[in-house]
Amino acid sequence: VATITPVSQPDPADACRRRLRCALCGDDRLRPILSLAPTPPGNAFVRTAATQRLYPLDLAVCEGCGHGQLLDIVDRLQVIGRATDALGDRPDILSQAKANARSLLERFGPPTGGLVVEIGSNDGSFLKVFDDAGRRVQGIEPAVNVAGQAIANGVRTFPGLFSAPVADRILDERGRAILISAQQLFAQTEDPAEILDGVRILLAPDGVFVFEVTYFSDVVEGGLFDSIHHLNLHYFAVTPLRRFFDKNGFELFAVERTAARGGSLRGSVQLPGGPFTADGSVETLVAFETRIGLTDPVRLAPFPARVEMLCAEVRGRLEEIKGSGGRIAGYGSEANTTTLLHQLGLDGGTLDFLIDDNADRQGLLSPGLHVPVLSPEALLERRPDWLLISAWNHAEEVMARHEAFQRAGGHFLVPLPSLVII
Ligand SMILES: [Zn+2]
Repeated sequence: VATITPVSQPDPADACRRRLRCALCGDDRLRPILSLAPTPPGNAFVRTAATQRLYPLDLAVCEGCGHGQLLDIVDRLQVIGRATDALGDRPDILSQAKANARSLLERFGPPTGGLVVEIGSNDGSFLKVFDDAGRRVQGIEPAVNVAGQAIANGVRTFPGLFSAPVADRILDERGRAILISAQQLFAQTEDPAEILDGVRILLAPDGVFVFEVTYFSDVVEGGLFDSIHHLNLHYFAVTPLRRFFDKNGFELFAVERTAARGGSLRGSVQLPGGPFTADGSVETLVAFETRIGLTDPVRLAPFPARVEMLCAEVRGRLEEIKGSGGRIAGYGSEANTTTLLHQLGLDGGTLDFLIDDNADRQGLLSPGLHVPVLSPEALLERRPDWLLISAWNHAEEVMARHEAFQRAGGHFLVPLPSLVII
């Protein structure tokens, strides 16, 4: 098990800045509650094992409004402008995205011909559902590889980050939007108020803005520290969000918890005087958050100890396996794996290789620790004894797909939300 030494020389460009004020309310009392091992950006895969800069991974909670946020902001284009997985290549997430689109169609029923906009629209798979149902669609996507795919698939897409000027331009060309959706991109934006500045320009008075983000409650309650990485700057709870929307002239009228990414929050927002009636769900989750102390830095104090306990257990088991000559590979190499591996101190000395279904990552080295990423065939060719499923929220599916590995004597190890050995 390796020790990670941060590299201290600064990048030539000012690639990382420390946040001094809360992203939602502007208060300067940001109380650090969890300090994880520094990592490169979670998706910074490389071809050669040259040293990569590590950035602090410190989570703070605002004493003013209770919002959870990263203190260090790695340049957004460097992190989210990179090539990303196309939804079309991820059947698991694709089916969730399409189901989400269908439920929005049903719930908010944008009229035929109405404009539906998605901020962070990936390869256009989500918008395609609306397109097929006779709505006009417009995507905005900063990752050039998937933006290109969307355009090739006939989904109108602006390749770049969303902002007020981009909203103005879309308004001129396409008119007002009846539905605007932002999935993970809302959590990846340095200043969420800038997204709202664009939404205010573009949203019809009777329109709805919907977003889905990792729910801070699931991170804390489940000890899901691996969902903390440099792509996600925000760990949202309903209490600070409601205040934030209010301050920016919007009404958060409904929220619900979903199972996406280990536990997410889906929110619906309208302009003042909009047509939707609050259903009480916001108050219910605010009361829940008060009860568990989710937005109170003092009551969050046990969180680091819980994370360390989970890590010690997994680390201990992996050391036992290595000690008895077992060979271990990992499954999944998304941004959360970068956090997991750095926090557990797992480099090529512990993990022979990582498997990833995405062909674009195969043949590369993992961010920072430089574990080789291989295709699933390596599992049967190289026959490790153990498979650490770092993509643990897809563990069932991974195990079902690789039954042959288990039949041949292999074992699975699922690290979170609690250690499971199969
Ligand atoms: Zn705040």
